[in-house]
Amino acid sequence: MYAQMQIGLREVFQTDRPVYIATGSGTAMMEAALRAAPPGRLLALVNGGFAQRFVTIARACDREVNTLVIRAGGVPSSEIVRDALGRASYSALSLVHSETSTGALTDVSAIAEVAERAGVAIIVDSVSGVGGAPLATDGWKLSCVVSASQKAIAAPPGLSFAVASEAFLAGASRMTGRGVYLDLVELDRHARNCETPSTPAASLFFALARQLENIRSEGIGNRWARHEAMRVQMESWVARTRCTTGVEIDLLARAGARSPTVSVVTLPGGLHSDALAQAVAERGFTIAPGYGALRRTTVRIGHMGEHTVDGLNACLDAVSDALAVVPASA
Ligand SMILES: *Cc1c(COP(=O)(O)O)cnc(C)c1O
Repeated sequence: MYAQMQIGLREVFQTDRPVYIATGSGTAMMEAALRAAPPGRLLALVNGGFAQRFVTIARACDREVNTLVIRAGGVPSSEIVRDALGRASYSALSLVHSETSTGALTDVSAIAEVAERAGVAIIVDSVSGVGGAPLATDGWKLSCVVSASQKAIAAPPGLSFAVASEAFLAGASRMTGRGVYLDLVELDRHARNCETPSTPAASLFFALARQLENIRSEGIGNRWARHEAMRVQMESWVARTRCTTGVEIDLLARAGARSPTVSVVTLPGGLHSDALAQAVAERGFTIAPGYGALRRTTVRIGHMGEHTVDGLNACLDAVSDALAVVPASA
């Protein structure tokens, strides 16, 4: 079953490398990646709550870390990253592909080129990207990519994934302080025999194996296209709704850098995210209030995994309906 799942996971991650599977949520492999990172300073690109998590983990693991902070909703450009890498010496950089707290999608491939030229390992959180947004682990020469079962892959929560390049893994084997449970070197050694270092979460494996078959039969390219169509649909809905209702909603991320898996909608002052989410819930759909500092002023609409344009349409109708009745007062 492990071998069979590798076929599906390698297609999803676009890699010929083994895809390690640990029992845990996405944060588990974020920590594994940082523990395995080459010795030296980490540059963390921080454009939202999940990107900040890398900083928290790195500090908790006693790694030296500098942050490059980009406004919420923004994305790091390759130029700004190149400049930052030139200002101090770094061994690795971390970033988030699809920042679930803001709906921004970073051009990982452009930043990977800069990282390669600077000789810096690039660690990518693609928890809400992989399976919904195009990502080419091998093609973009990424050092380490981490993800989880419950976002765009749409399997039950509880499994965390990582892919590491040969160079990243070789560096890791010379590092101390990798811990035990989430040691990429051990995960790699066991993956070669199609096994996990400790008890596999067999029930979750059955679910994942089944979902990977579903993904294979849809085709990863079709899956990316379906998500892209939902991103476009969100953009036209926001523009249309602003016109027809006069309610000043917008997308937090800028055009050209929006995630195909999640949209973060900004609300006008006075309209509370909880009130809107509640009114939408009464209409049978679940949207989430904002994340972290954006909690009150934004709502998050997830359109990843098995969601479709038709399904999203029904959800957006409910949101439009709710916007018409929720009073815009504090
Ligand atoms: C969900 C998510 C995570 C990990 O969260 P877990 O709860 O640990 O699975 C990390 N990064 C991003 C971008 C996420 O969306």
